[in-house]
Amino acid sequence: MSTRRAASARKAPPIPENCPCGLPAAYVDCCGRLHRGEVTAGTAEQVMRSRFSAFAVRDEAYLLRSWDPETRPADVDFDPAMRWERLEILGTTGGGMFHTEGTVEFRAHYRVRGAAGELHERSRFRRDRGAWVYLDGEIEP
Ligand SMILES: [Zn+2]
Repeated sequence: MSTRRAASARKAPPIPENCPCGLPAAYVDCCGRLHRGEVTAGTAEQVMRSRFSAFAVRDEAYLLRSWDPETRPADVDFDPAMRWERLEILGTTGGGMFHTEGTVEFRAHYRVRGAAGELHERSRFRRDRGAWVYLDGEIEP
């Protein structure tokens, strides 16, 4: 996801108890560990989940550091009206322990002022000095 919006982050949403990425775990024990830099993502799917969570909690630093230097924006503009609510992983290719590239197809559910919406995208990831990073994505219908 590389959603860029005009509005800037004013007030970050509260840190959720359950991890936004969809795994049955507490945020602090799941994507929170990646966001705090305690562990790194072992697979493209894991970095995808952690980036979705980073959009949900508006962790700009993590989003930038998990972005390929070639496509990384200068900053991430979060839409304060947007709430990323749920992530569905639809499929993956490559992106494992022994791969250097991978794709993750997902559906990300959000809400803007009460109205539900979804983003269906196939994201490309690759390893940058060993760490999985987001390269770019194609929006699917
Ligand atoms: Zn998580």
